[in-house]
Amino acid sequence: MDFKELREYMVETQLIPRGIKDERVLDAMRKVPRHLFVDEYMQYKAYDDMALPIGEDQTISQPYMVAVMTELLQLKGDERVLEVGTGSGYQAAILAELSKEIFTVERIAVLAKKAEERFRSLGYSNVYVRIGDGTLGWPEESPFNRILVTAGTPRIPLPLIEQLSDGGIIVAPVGDRFSQQLIIIKKSKGALSEQLHTPCVFVPLIGEYGWGRDED
Ligand code: SAH
Repeated sequence: MDFKELREYMVETQLIPRGIKDERVLDAMRKVPRHLFVDEYMQYKAYDDMALPIGEDQTISQPYMVAVMTELLQLKGDERVLEVGTGSGYQAAILAELSKEIFTVERIAVLAKKAEERFRSLGYSNVYVRIGDGTLGWPEESPFNRILVTAGTPRIPLPLIEQLSDGGIIVAPVGDRFSQQLIIIKKSKGALSEQLHTPCVFVPLIGEYGWGRDED
């Protein structure tokens, strides 16, 4: 399969018509080999307009959702970014193309290790992976200019708000267990503003400031 051609087709049919405009985001989506972030038997579907399973009951987000969230972060290139929910590592790789350093936290060790392996083999040396509860953020590396949560949460975890630098932006899917809406939080001179964006469906953020392990 010509994966480069499939990526271009994905950009032309799924991203541009739905309003993704940031050329840097579109170029990153044209460049990052999404098929290498899923298991081999699923590679032929990697550029389809959908989320795909990555094992452990988790998913790699739909390309459009990755593009929207990335665009909302308004990355210029010099940001330190925290991602909560490494999953396959695909979103982190997109962020790594567009900003300076990515700190990504994943609670499931096998996924974190697989993602780390992918970053190494693809040469993303500006991505740092930590295994743990990302609702606690990554205090030692804070503050962050941008924070992206890639799992659905009932509320924005408080530690993330604390670890956001002034002028910073958080993007997170907030809602109930089965449907959420992207929320954009901006911190400016200590004050927070909140905007609602696209409706979406993510796997749950499980942790101290997300969903409890047993809540359904
Ligand atoms: N960004 C990913 C998709 C993430 S799916 C990608 O590009 O592939 C959401 C991920 O969040 C899952 O891997 C899940 O295990 C993880 N997750 C859920 N709760 C978490 C928490 N509290 N801390 C860190 N990761 C969490």
